[in-house]
Amino acid sequence: MGKQILILGAGFGGLAAATELRKGLGQDHRIIVIDRKKSFMMGLVKLWILEGSRQLEESQTPLDGLNAKGIEYLNDEIIMIDATSKRVQAKDHGWFDYDYLVVALGAELVPDRIPGFVGRGYNLYDAQQVPKLRDMLLKLGRGRVAIAIMGMPYKCPPAPYEASLIIDSVLSRRGIRSSVEIDVYAPAPIALPVAGPQVSANVVEIISQRGIRFHPLHKLKSVADGTLEFENGSKADYDLLVGIPPHRTPEVVRSSRLAEGDWVAVDRNTMKTSFESVFAIGDVTEIKVGASAVPKAGIFAEEQGKVAAGQIIGEIGDRQATTTFAGQGYCFMEVGNGQAGLLAADFFNPAGPQIRLEAPSEQNFQKKQDFERTRVKEWLL
Ligand SMILES: Cc1cc2nc3c(=O)[nH]c(=O)nc-3n(C[C@H](O)[C@H](O)[C@H](O)COP(=O)(O)OP(=O)(O)OC[C@H]3O[C@@H](n4cnc5c(N)ncnc54)[C@H](O)[C@@H]3O)c2cc1C
Repeated sequence: MGKQILILGAGFGGLAAATELRKGLGQDHRIIVIDRKKSFMMGLVKLWILEGSRQLEESQTPLDGLNAKGIEYLNDEIIMIDATSKRVQAKDHGWFDYDYLVVALGAELVPDRIPGFVGRGYNLYDAQQVPKLRDMLLKLGRGRVAIAIMGMPYKCPPAPYEASLIIDSVLSRRGIRSSVEIDVYAPAPIALPVAGPQVSANVVEIISQRGIRFHPLHKLKSVADGTLEFENGSKADYDLLVGIPPHRTPEVVRSSRLAEGDWVAVDRNTMKTSFESVFAIGDVTEIKVGASAVPKAGIFAEEQGKVAAGQIIGEIGDRQATTTFAGQGYCFMEVGNGQAGLLAADFFNPAGPQIRLEAPSEQNFQKKQDFERTRVKEWLL
């Protein structure tokens, strides 16, 4: 008898899982993807909108493209996950039973956790706010741009540094860079704790060469007009504030008691949760590696989606799945002016996590564009 597989969330992980499942299962098995959004846009596109090479309107791909691929897409909000009764409640469509569940709901942003930020700062991770941020950059004549990482962990650890370099190149192109200071404030003692001290030093060197100052151990406490206050007691002035808000597990995951700590715990090889037939992938999970954790990034969400799909296909076919999550991935670090570096990571290496940064090049920037194009085509077009 055909099985019913529900995938909650049509982001990076959910789309990769759905595609893999459809490839590996016969049409008698239903694959249903539920998301409250009607379209998909990769997170990295926000940086291209900031840079000016992309418009928001042309970057969103409708999720109903899934239907033509034999995957049922439902536009709705998940309001309850009942893992004991193996069912899920959607706001408008009611209850859905499942044989297998893949939770791919990502991370929720909580900008209002920092008093004074909302209304004064621009949320770099909110697609609607990035075009407004770009408009402000185009109007700025002089002053200070502050980029604040407001909490840890956050998705795509290099993104705030990429944003600082893109802002540098936008202002340079306008010929006003020398009249604007750019500062990055981070709560951690090094730029990329997940990548270690060497790569962090490389990143700080790259931004310093462009006159961008890095302030470690500066966790934002509150925002007032023109002034930032940090938990270490120091203050700083700003004219334009760019924030990477604190992240948390989505509300429905918390209220359904799926997360045991801050995030959903999974078996790092299979992406199984402690609930029967429930898998979790991507930003909603936390996979500890020593004192750190696998970063919240699309490349890992995608890989984990494929692994969860492989496990489900194996169980349905009554055979042992061979695909397991290897903890390996890469990510392009954009530096502006059509160039990108490449961060390659191997988190489960027996000698400890291995991360290296490849120097920025036009080829890597080209690869980053292909990265988006090929995935959107495979998943939705
Ligand atoms: C500026 C920026 C740059 C980035 N650059 C890169 C990069 O270069 N490389 C890289 O690998 N990663 C990058 N990332 C990170 C990447 O976008 C995320 O890690 C990735 O999207 C995580 O995938 P996910 O499937 O776990 O969650 P998401 O892609 O966030 O998907 C979650 C989905 O769940 C839906 N959802 C949530 N709650 C509900 C609900 N209650 N009901 C219905 N639907 C719901 C959401 O609408 C969303 O579509 C970047 C992120 C940003 C913000």
